[in-house]
Amino acid sequence: MKTTQDTLIIGAGLSGLTVAWKLRQMPGHSFLLIEQSATTGGAIRSHSENGFLAECGPHGFLDNCPESKTLLKETGLDQECLKAPLSKFVRYVCMNGSLRLIPQSPAKILAAPLISPLQKLRVLADLWKKPLAGEPTVSEWVRHRFGKALLPYVDAVFTGTYAGDLERLVIDGVMPGVRQLEKEHGSVIRGLLKKKKAADKKNSGKKKGLPAMTSFPQGMTRLAERLTEELNSDKELLTNCPVSSISRKNGCWQVETAGDTFLGRNLVLALPVNRALALLASLGDPPPQAEIAEARIVTIGLGFGKGASLPPGFGYLSPEQEQRFCLGALFSSNMFPGRAPADHILLEALVGGRRHPERLELDDETLIKEAVRDLRELLDLPGEPAYARVLRPRGGIPQLEAGYPALLQWRNALMQKEKGLYVTGFGWEGIGLNDMIKTAFRVSEAIKQGEQDGGEESAEVKKVYF
Ligand SMILES: Cc1cc2nc3c(=O)[nH]c(=O)nc-3n(C[C@H](O)[C@H](O)[C@H](O)COP(=O)(O)OP(=O)(O)OC[C@H]3O[C@@H](n4cnc5c(N)ncnc54)[C@H](O)[C@@H]3O)c2cc1C
Repeated sequence: MKTTQDTLIIGAGLSGLTVAWKLRQMPGHSFLLIEQSATTGGAIRSHSENGFLAECGPHGFLDNCPESKTLLKETGLDQECLKAPLSKFVRYVCMNGSLRLIPQSPAKILAAPLISPLQKLRVLADLWKKPLAGEPTVSEWVRHRFGKALLPYVDAVFTGTYAGDLERLVIDGVMPGVRQLEKEHGSVIRGLLKKKKAADKKNSGKKKGLPAMTSFPQGMTRLAERLTEELNSDKELLTNCPVSSISRKNGCWQVETAGDTFLGRNLVLALPVNRALALLASLGDPPPQAEIAEARIVTIGLGFGKGASLPPGFGYLSPEQEQRFCLGALFSSNMFPGRAPADHILLEALVGGRRHPERLELDDETLIKEAVRDLRELLDLPGEPAYARVLRPRGGIPQLEAGYPALLQWRNALMQKEKGLYVTGFGWEGIGLNDMIKTAFRVSEAIKQGEQDGGEESAEVKKVYF
């Protein structure tokens, strides 16, 4: 039995590492970060080989989140990071078998010939459509408010973020802020305009623009590596140590691993939803659902030599109606320097997702062959790939589908009830790196103040970028 820590953190992915980083700033606060794998970073895993640098997990994050900016500054990573501004790096959606450029501002999107003038008028029907009751799927909700012409574009957005299925993701789960606007103002467009007016008034004179995608010369692993560097590996971090159960004993949290028992006044579960639910089951307060769906993908890094070229920009996404093998591809060597040797390009194709788990069963050779065949129909990629590598992430992307809002409410109530318990991580209040950092900051602040965390008070209206 070890000494009692102020805080035990389970999971050393970005969420747990960020909580640890913030707790280190509290003088005299003892903590222990417990990780099942040999390495930290969780879903973050950069893969460097033969001069090519690909990502098995996240490729980057937008620089529009104040907490992430603070973290970069505090760690000094703001001096190292690479940025690819959305204003320069255009994106495409595959429509009717070819790539269509998508403007990044709502006004430009509306002006572009992406949908017919009649369909644009139908979008404006949002101004008088009543909010749909219950828990509509993204697809039901978009059809109701804006008409079905927008569905392929919305599909591309949720393919790019959740690798998800808009017939199953629920709007209250994936865009709670927009749903709140709809309910408050009777229309999303009206709500957004009011919000913009208020923001313009507040920010008058300040420079506005599109955010930039952020990564590092060594890839995203650098973020996890830097957050780990400062941890005292004898006292503050335990790797190769899977937690098997948690319980509450005499006002303390007790954490069991194969060889040890740890005690903490606070317990942070910084885990993907399903891993957290597995541990929380022993507390005797059953959740409305035992687990949620996850979407798994593979990333196929493909390098090509002389003669191959990529269109300018960030990459493309393909909605399901296009019936393509790849969900999309990132034009990685366009975005950040050093991703491919001289005279080569690197693209990273994404395959699988919620709708095509069967493709993940294919062997590497077939995946590469099928991905190259698919990409060649859209891009100028003559010759055989100079480099091909299938990267298989360990975990999936949590899907916020039917019942998720009730699950989130259950978690919030549990955190209010169980003193010193904080449940954060992949799939709780979002799935992106910025969501993880933002929530980790809130959790560490609650610990600092000795308060319980009840979840996000009012849902943020997140901007959508393709
Ligand atoms: C393929 C893929 C692509 C993505 N792309 C992007 C992107 O481009 N941009 C973006 O913003 N986000 C992206 N994301 C999401 C992003 O990776 C996550 O938001 C983030 O990494 C989640 O961090 P986390 O620490 O909450 O969870 P995780 O990274 O899953 O970390 C949880 C940690 O807990 C450990 N653990 C689990 N169970 C136990 C246990 N019982 N005991 C001890 N340790 C345990 C795990 O080993 C892991 O290290 C992507 C995710 C995936 C999977």
